[in-house]
Amino acid sequence: MVPFLDVLAAYRELSGEISGAIARVCQSGQYIGGAEVQDFESEYAAYCGVKHCVGVGNGLDGLVLLLRAAGIGPGDEVIVPGHTFIATWLAVTQVGALPVAADVEADGFNIDTADVARKVTAKTRAILPVHLYGCPTDMKPLKAIADQHDLWLFEDAAQAQGARYDGRRAGGLADGAAWSFYPGKNLGAMGDAGAVTTDNDELAASVRMIGNYGANRKYHHDVAGVNSRLDPMQAAVLRVKLARLEAWNEQRRAIAARYMQHITASGVTLPQRMQATSSASGVCQSAVWHIFPVLSEDRDALSARLERAGVATLIHYPVLPVASGAYAQPGSHRSEGEMRHAARAANEELSLPIGPHMTAAQVDEVIDALNHAS
Ligand SMILES: *Cc1c(COP(=O)(O)O)cnc(C)c1O
Repeated sequence: MVPFLDVLAAYRELSGEISGAIARVCQSGQYIGGAEVQDFESEYAAYCGVKHCVGVGNGLDGLVLLLRAAGIGPGDEVIVPGHTFIATWLAVTQVGALPVAADVEADGFNIDTADVARKVTAKTRAILPVHLYGCPTDMKPLKAIADQHDLWLFEDAAQAQGARYDGRRAGGLADGAAWSFYPGKNLGAMGDAGAVTTDNDELAASVRMIGNYGANRKYHHDVAGVNSRLDPMQAAVLRVKLARLEAWNEQRRAIAARYMQHITASGVTLPQRMQATSSASGVCQSAVWHIFPVLSEDRDALSARLERAGVATLIHYPVLPVASGAYAQPGSHRSEGEMRHAARAANEELSLPIGPHMTAAQVDEVIDALNHAS
């Protein structure tokens, strides 16, 4: 069986270093915050090419803290992609603002910038694109819209550790970015973990303050904050893995290139836009292939045939946020228009196995199974 992602292989590669890192935390006596968290924060900020990284409990918290720090709340609208993991929408809901859906690109999976322009109202306060599947969003046109209407522009960068756009890395492409280090992400912890990156001093300080019970100084609580801090054990693990991220992303790129070259199955649409070296607006880009998505009108049958051939697949994501029970309540969101391309992604997307520890033989097995399954 070709597994969808072998997270244990990452552990096996680094088990000695990981044990050492965890032992270091155990022996430090610093079980909240401390040097390990600070070191990860400065290393990850440097990696992303930004001034600040603030560790938080998980990716959803990162998004919520970013929105709260920007002062977004009830009565405000935030434009989000119609097709994404639901956390993007839930963050907006959690701060009391309204998620406003925009369709995704016709030839890709990220937010459609032309549709974003149509969704701006007097209540819009922010645009929250997602670098879905590890492909950077075309930020240049979004920046123009944000500048024109004086909006915050953020990144949900949970799937894009290391992705590049216009010579910069994800996490440094907007006013602020939220990260998840969920174990299956390109940079994954061994439990829940997340971060916010930004060049904005005030935003960084505010995220840190709100995530630390609303206190800058112990027992002086300026706002009703929350407890969402990066665990030092996770920070220690992340530091070990961060040193491998570039090499692991290169492995993913090599696998994606093989898939792009050798998958010839009819009725299967390959993710050309993700492989393109420039965005729709002509800015140079490089994806990190968190997911390798194909489209098939016969998706469920294809997935079943691959399963029988020993190839595990997943769907990211079968139900749009707007169609989920969480947003069944009228007034819980705004989505006008038919969101044709978001609907197509939900109905036709299938994710093939990809990961830094896949062997060449496994990649060929996937290609063979696909070319003979359809
Ligand atoms: C994983 C993910 C999140 C949330 O991350 P958690 O760490 O699980 O809270 C948010 N947005 C996107 C796009 C994700 O893929």
